[in-house]
Amino acid sequence: MVIVMKPQARKEDITGVEKLLKSMGFDVHISEGSERTIIGVIGDKRLLADTPLELLPGVDRMVHIVEPYKLAGRAFHPENTVIKIGNEEIGGNKVAVMAGPCAVESGEQLLNTARFLKSQGVGFLRGGAFKPRSSPYSFQGLEEDGLKILAEARDETGLLLVSEAVSERTLELAAKYVDVIQIGARNMQNFALLREAGRMKLPVVLKRGLSATIEEWLNAAEYIMNEGNYNIILCERGIRTFETYTRNTLDLSSIPSVKELSHLPVIADPSHGTGRWNLVAPMSRAAIAAGTDGLLVEVHPSPKEALSDGPQSLNFTSFARLMDDIRNIAGFLGRES
Ligand code: PEP
Ligand code: MN
Repeated sequence: MVIVMKPQARKEDITGVEKLLKSMGFDVHISEGSERTIIGVIGDKRLLADTPLELLPGVDRMVHIVEPYKLAGRAFHPENTVIKIGNEEIGGNKVAVMAGPCAVESGEQLLNTARFLKSQGVGFLRGGAFKPRSSPYSFQGLEEDGLKILAEARDETGLLLVSEAVSERTLELAAKYVDVIQIGARNMQNFALLREAGRMKLPVVLKRGLSATIEEWLNAAEYIMNEGNYNIILCERGIRTFETYTRNTLDLSSIPSVKELSHLPVIADPSHGTGRWNLVAPMSRAAIAAGTDGLLVEVHPSPKEALSDGPQSLNFTSFARLMDDIRNIAGFLGRES
């Protein structure tokens, strides 16, 4: 349930409602919009049967939410959530770009890539230090050494860092080095990890699970938000279908769907979404047309030699071409890039 306050509600009206609900054992989440404040109430609403909240000063109305996710839904926060990270913003008018190799492989590989991406106007450097590989015999990542290399690249270039955590332990470690934590598709329903990510304040890129419905994905975001971290960037990275030509099926319809259902920013990952480097640019263009708040793209100095996800990684030349496409389409749609 959410309580919609009147536009002219005073601060003490809001704290009055908050205190009363907390004294009754509810979890209370406050969303301050530009027009009015909305109070999200989590708990057994039958307890409110004899409490006419509508009569409290400053309260406009109560809205019962039928969706299982409450805080991630538009009713709780009607305006788009814009997440500020360093000098970058996700969820506003700009098409954000997160790019970099699937995995951090060496200092040289990552620093070369970082310098190139910086020269292209990219805001975020991505690179996995803990890799959730499908086979235990595949390269698993450089772990903390990889995080240290990422931090070096940030110190030199000023790029913001995005890297994946695969467990509660690696989350704690990654949080010491990066600006944004990625929770990967395979961990979208790792509820202990989601809760832990909710207890820290770093923004989270939450990838859609391999066969997750949009509702399951938003419920995963709800786990994080319910612990107090509202800085979530949803990432459409393709779902598993009967099609095998592409690695996954990039569900572009999820972008406008999520924007309708939720206030959270949503970005697209055409690299994992297709598994083929030559499909990355067309699907990036389509994702921008569909309203994505940003793109997450794998780039490698020499994709053929990549230790993971080479076939879907762009080399520097094709990435530079993609950046031209992004600028053109974003400009045509009145977006910044
Ligand atoms: C990745 O970003 O490299 C990754 C492993 O992604 P996903 O979780 O979407 O498979
Ligand atoms: Mn990858």
